[in-house]
Amino acid sequence: MAEAQVIDGNAVAARLRERVAAKVEQLTSAHGRRPGLATILVGDDPASEVYVRMKRNDSAEVGIESFHHEPGGDVSEQDLGELIGRLNADDRVDGILLQLPLPTHLDQAALVPLIEPGKDVDGLTPMNAGLLAQDQIGAMVPCTPAGVMELLDAADVELDGSRAVVIGRSILVGKPLVQLLLAANATVTHCHSHTRDLGAICREADVVVAAAGRPGLVTADMVSEGAVVIDVGTNRTDAGLVGDVDFEGVRAKARAITPVPGGVGPMTRAMLLVNTVAAAQANMAGGG
Ligand code: NAP
Repeated sequence: MAEAQVIDGNAVAARLRERVAAKVEQLTSAHGRRPGLATILVGDDPASEVYVRMKRNDSAEVGIESFHHEPGGDVSEQDLGELIGRLNADDRVDGILLQLPLPTHLDQAALVPLIEPGKDVDGLTPMNAGLLAQDQIGAMVPCTPAGVMELLDAADVELDGSRAVVIGRSILVGKPLVQLLLAANATVTHCHSHTRDLGAICREADVVVAAAGRPGLVTADMVSEGAVVIDVGTNRTDAGLVGDVDFEGVRAKARAITPVPGGVGPMTRAMLLVNTVAAAQANMAGGG
């Protein structure tokens, strides 16, 4: 069997950004203001600082206006809630991104639901998660699983009737991805740290998505010839940034595979822009 196609997330994301930039221009000339994304960074987690900076740069590149807030690492839950409330009411703000994780004195489960569902560009509010679970059109879908679906589409993967395995059940990645794959008519097996015989389950699959945060979890003996393998994992190791998949080993067996870096990561960033523009379009159509 020929070596796997390496799905280039940077190239797919670049095409998406071009489409977003065109849409931003169209919305701006039709409504007299640019789509706006508010970012909230609490605390001094270095990785979060980098992520927020990248998201703001990405926004600027496609013409989205950025409203950045750093309320301070000791901000109270009430004050942070009030900031979210002000952003909900601000017509210039189409999307609100509360960078996670929050410092431990703040309750993420209490704060995220305060974001207006229409501005919830991370798709993490219970309302959007519920809409997705009920197959309702208009749900704001979390960026990483939405990006995985775009990559599968770009690689021409036929999902209808396929057998898919998702490893990981976080509300950020695994759970919404299962909903999206089900909606695409895949038959989905959902695995987690208590799953027995992960290898045997993966070997039955046409599509394997690893989102566990465990380097080397998926090895060549666990995938069937011709499978499509998407690696969401992002693990910082002494050897640098690696995914959950033994890339070289699996590549020799799979039909298509995503690299780390350069696979799902750029798609997550691009989908935030897609969600922001979708939110802006809905907001502007409603007079905002
Ligand atoms: P998470 O909240 O820590 O969830 C990890 C999931 O993996 C859990 O459901 C856990 O099972 C499962 N798991 C852990 N070890 C396992 C094992 N040995 N076998 C099977 N399942 C196992 O992580 P997350 O936020 O979903 O992120 C997952 C990975 O994706 C991380 O590496 C993260 O950095 C990366 N990520 C990348 C992007 C991107 O843009 N590329 C975006 C988001 C996340 P239990 O539920 O039983 O504990």
